[in-house]
Amino acid sequence: MNSNLNPNLNSNLSLTLPEHPRKSNGKVTSGPASFYARWRVQCGVVPALREDHESPPERLLQAVWQHQRLLRGQLKTLDGQTVRVLHPGFADPEGGPDFRGAVVQFDDAPPRAGDVEVDIHAGNWRAHGHDRNPAFQQVILHVIWDGAGVHASACQGGGKSARLKPELQPPPPRLSISDKLDAPIGELSFWLNAESAQLLPENLRGQCCASLRDLAPEKLAELLRDAAQIRFRGKSAQLQARARQAGWEQALWEGIFRALGYKHNTWPMHCLAEQRERWLSPRTSPFALQARLFGISGLLPAELTRAQASADGYLRRIWDQWWREREEFADCTLPRSVWRFHGQRPANHPQRRLALAAHWLASGSLAGKIERWCASVVPDEELAGSLLEVLQIGRDDFWSWHWTMRSARLKKPQPLLGAARAADLAVNVILPWLWVRAAEGKNESVQRGIERRFNAWPSAEDNAVLRLARQRLLGGAPRRALRNAAEQQGLIQIVRDFCDRANAVCQDCRFPEMVRNWKDERGRCDSSNAEQAI
Ligand code: SF4
Repeated sequence: MNSNLNPNLNSNLSLTLPEHPRKSNGKVTSGPASFYARWRVQCGVVPALREDHESPPERLLQAVWQHQRLLRGQLKTLDGQTVRVLHPGFADPEGGPDFRGAVVQFDDAPPRAGDVEVDIHAGNWRAHGHDRNPAFQQVILHVIWDGAGVHASACQGGGKSARLKPELQPPPPRLSISDKLDAPIGELSFWLNAESAQLLPENLRGQCCASLRDLAPEKLAELLRDAAQIRFRGKSAQLQARARQAGWEQALWEGIFRALGYKHNTWPMHCLAEQRERWLSPRTSPFALQARLFGISGLLPAELTRAQASADGYLRRIWDQWWREREEFADCTLPRSVWRFHGQRPANHPQRRLALAAHWLASGSLAGKIERWCASVVPDEELAGSLLEVLQIGRDDFWSWHWTMRSARLKKPQPLLGAARAADLAVNVILPWLWVRAAEGKNESVQRGIERRFNAWPSAEDNAVLRLARQRLLGGAPRRALRNAAEQQGLIQIVRDFCDRANAVCQDCRFPEMVRNWKDERGRCDSSNAEQAI
């Protein structure tokens, strides 16, 4: 699949230069020189790292693993097994291994589920007593920064480990990642440190609440906008880093699939998108692509409902299609166990998302349509509707009438994409993708236009992070207090930068002090400007 978009589609929109810049830590991905960016450095949210020296902090390695900011197609354990990460697992703050419930495939063996421990040094396995700790018995992969000096024989049950005392566990396979990052470590430290999420107990008003309440509404808006810029550029940088490896169109599809994964299923969706060139063939119908995607994803039910005739009819036809090609795609088929269904609304079921993606992929024109939308003139109040129109598909004989493959036929047809998911796609994928392409193409006016759209985008759906943040930081402000998607994104960024690094009583959080000082500084600046004007 050609990664450069058709130049005929964007004749008046110079997005991307023909080649990626040789240096990846150039102007585009350096952080914006804003006051909020300085706060992150001053508070140690962003560690000052250089490319050429010591190991990064473990916290950063964990974030790299969690977000898989790795050259995922090139991973090998120190003893030479290829590693395919189908799910990185869930961060576990309770002690024990760093990530629980990861799913990893070694060479061609069936995928294994288990835990992952992340350490700077290989020797920490013994030094930290993991080899004697029963909580580490399910660890299937030890992710380390640098494997220099570690002998392959020490990585598996053979060699020295065969002589361990019976109560000691041999170290699991080791994966060194220092040369497998998808971007320079300095760039990763800047952007990724915003993302290590741990939810905090509810009903606790934060210590910053009073400082934020003292800000005038326009100052609070300025602060949220500035923080949102950090988040926006972080997402842009991630797409850019992936585009360096796989091309712009592939980076877009991976971003779209992740967003369609909605909270719990971002990783399986990402894994599917990574294999896009493997399973996408030209001129395939939406139905045939649906069958292939359901089959490869492991989401195809093995049994009929025997109660829903229309669902069973569709399922039979899908199986007829998939049956013919299942052998051909056996190597990239995911186990059903990588998917999570708990607490999922039918409208967000991954089957439904894949059915939608199959339509986009079969049309072959989504990237071009998004480019044309970017080049068109759209009034602010029509932004959301105009993008929804671009992304909406025509009626699907089955999916417009069923939430999932096992549900009864609906009385009224339902669109496969709602306004809330379209807004998520816009602020998390489409606008950052367009912006960073324009940045690489050195097209500042297009960049400014995309920033304007981001800042004007209407609020997206509320979520648990925003609800808790409004309670803790904004003293229980109502949902409408965040007037647009950028303000929502800014608040999430503050949570990631500050709340996720403090405990429930805000111990050692420097955000309140930063806000107070900024308010005082701004106050002094404003009054001196007023005096000069007089
Ligand atoms: S941790 Fe910091 S930013 Fe979060 S609520 Fe407490 S004081 Fe505010």
